[in-house]
Amino acid sequence: MKVPFLDLKAQYESIKDEIDAAIQDVIERTAFAGGPFVERFESEFASFCQSSFAIGCGSGTSALYLALHGLGIGQGDEVITAANTFIATAEAISACGATPVFVDIDEQTYTLSPALFEEAITPKTKAVIPVHLYGQMAEMDSILEIARAHDLYVIEDACQAHGAEYNGRRAGSIGDAGCFSFYPGKNLGAYGEAGAVVTNNAELADVMRRYRDHGQDKKYYHSMIGWNDRMDGLQGAILSVKLKHLSAWNEARRNNAQLYNTLLSDVDCIVTPVEAEAAKHVYHIYAVRVRDREMLMKALAEKDICCGIHYPIPLHLQEAYQCLGYSTNSLPVTERCVNEQLSLPMYAELSRAQIETVCEQIKAFEEVAV
Ligand SMILES: *Cc1c(COP(=O)(O)O)cnc(C)c1O
Repeated sequence: MKVPFLDLKAQYESIKDEIDAAIQDVIERTAFAGGPFVERFESEFASFCQSSFAIGCGSGTSALYLALHGLGIGQGDEVITAANTFIATAEAISACGATPVFVDIDEQTYTLSPALFEEAITPKTKAVIPVHLYGQMAEMDSILEIARAHDLYVIEDACQAHGAEYNGRRAGSIGDAGCFSFYPGKNLGAYGEAGAVVTNNAELADVMRRYRDHGQDKKYYHSMIGWNDRMDGLQGAILSVKLKHLSAWNEARRNNAQLYNTLLSDVDCIVTPVEAEAAKHVYHIYAVRVRDREMLMKALAEKDICCGIHYPIPLHLQEAYQCLGYSTNSLPVTERCVNEQLSLPMYAELSRAQIETVCEQIKAFEEVAV
């Protein structure tokens, strides 16, 4: 049985009529760049995130930049974050002219270690970006407490965590700003590129809203030097349709993760993901740990089961960030995890039979390998 890593077509088939009508509506009303469909989605997404404001923009990378820039972070500032993330988290810091400072993670949840975050604070530190990796929120209570004590901003990288919770509070709503990506493969994915920032800070919302639209208050009246970072009308309309289904899709992902956990519980070579006590994990990615990752991935590929690696090289060891001067072993937990993680197929439409097939093949691999 073929098990693709992702199946965006299956999701489209399940909501085809709604999506097609929404796209037609945008075309009829020619509301292509920003406009009413984006505004409607912003208001729906803000309330979904238990936040006062949502500002739609071009991508998750842009959302991170908008939040950092909007909070005045720039040249000479340091921003602390994790290295086991997509490079966009650090790129946004660099794009502002600030310097990313990478700290190690908790080995259970793969998210920023609050204690190491505190140790890394210097007089130049202005903000911290906890990454809610794979759909599980970082330890926000401790991170927020440390950040407040040192007068630092907290920007949540919630690009993988739409609808995730920490002690009942939604991802994005706890820090000064929460940044989301609607890249097609995310839990809430557009049909192209899109992103958003949520915040409870009215002043920050206003700055970001103007900045992403050339700094204008009304057309051709520019109160600040901004940029073009608007969301497409088509993406806004599509995201409004899909947002209605997000909670059900996240529940399906959680059920799929539960089934994987159960079926893999007696497989010795596999460490399944841990959901922290305070967290509601939404499993954007279901990553297991396994020593013989390359071998297992190859064995599964031979059976038409597609896996992924998120991410093979941590940011502090990427060629692009050699300028920061990190070396191997500077983040031992991150490096250990990054070398062993394998992402199994995970999406709402995955069938029970598909998950059973994946687990049977992993068991068959273990028997041969032992
Ligand atoms: C996807 C992602 C981003 C970037 O989002 P884009 O929409 O692709 O720009 C940033 N951070 C993390 C953790 C992501 O997974």
